[in-house]
Amino acid sequence: MKKKNNRDDFLGTTKRLLRNRVGGRCSNPECRVPTDAPSEEGPEKVNSIGKAAHITAAAPGPGARRYNSALKPIERRSIHNGIWLCGSCADKIDKDDKTYTVALLHEWKRKAEESAKREQGKKLPDEQDAVNTLVAAATGQTAVFLPNLMANASKAASGYLEKLDPRFAVETNFHNGSIHYAIHPKEPVDFKIISDYIYRKELREEIEESVKHGRDFVIDGNHVKLEGIPIIKEFEKRYTINNYKFEHLSRKNITVRLKTISPDSKAESFFYDLHGYAVLGTESIRIEAGGLNGLFLTKIKMPIEGKTAEVIFTVNFKLWDGLQLNSIQYFDKIYQLHYEMINNWKLNISAESEGIRSYAVA
Ligand SMILES: [Zn+2]
Repeated sequence: MKKKNNRDDFLGTTKRLLRNRVGGRCSNPECRVPTDAPSEEGPEKVNSIGKAAHITAAAPGPGARRYNSALKPIERRSIHNGIWLCGSCADKIDKDDKTYTVALLHEWKRKAEESAKREQGKKLPDEQDAVNTLVAAATGQTAVFLPNLMANASKAASGYLEKLDPRFAVETNFHNGSIHYAIHPKEPVDFKIISDYIYRKELREEIEESVKHGRDFVIDGNHVKLEGIPIIKEFEKRYTINNYKFEHLSRKNITVRLKTISPDSKAESFFYDLHGYAVLGTESIRIEAGGLNGLFLTKIKMPIEGKTAEVIFTVNFKLWDGLQLNSIQYFDKIYQLHYEMINNWKLNISAESEGIRSYAVA
């Protein structure tokens, strides 16, 4: 074959050998991408991003890298002077011969051939393998049983976060396709809520209400920053936090008894005992209690000074959907309470927690 120029180019067979000896993957150990795929242009067309690159340049000149004038042309185009690379790695080595030295490229080639030997006949990892590996790394369990996957991942996430700050217990829950984190302090923790100017008034009111009346509250994550809790910092790095929900931890289990007294004080009746919790504020006790198999819920704001409580009753009528009136459990009792309330019966509330009883009327 007649040479067209002064370049000592590789023969087609040499290129093919270079590619096949590394399993058709880039020889840069940090790259290793597959270089060849079919081209839709035709049944005999290959779409290759691979290049048989010269370790020492094919020709001298200003653009040549690692050119070795001591080599004969036959040595320069021999397989010993070639390395299979993807297009981008091939470009890279021809722009920096200080980083990509002859010795380094020979090292890459040797490693790539070793890898090809090791990988030959073995299944390549797929995406599911990547998930399994991740879970195995996170949970320390190598055999992944798929139904446990979410639980394991959740346990791993909680464990990771707890390690960041052992003052907290972290609960992770998957719900409707999103992840909810509950962070419970195990001990008193100091932190700062830093608010922007426009949100300051609203924030102060929320916190004051919470202190006075035992209310849980939500603050807008777009207007505040929390400082002093490393776990939160970790979330801020990855997510936009839309809101922070603060819940009172000091909840006391409580039993609520409702007594109704007729306007002439001659008749009285008791409603079913309701169970729930109470949170103590500086001005009132917040009570949430329910019963009757989830049908009946009451929210009570019971003042610490004074005797008049605010009461809201909620009946979950959904539970009655599609039932005959006379077959509805508790219907009579709820109807009676309703009747008494609109006919000015008095409501007495007694709440008992751990043997301590408090009373109020509404
Ligand atoms: Zn590459």
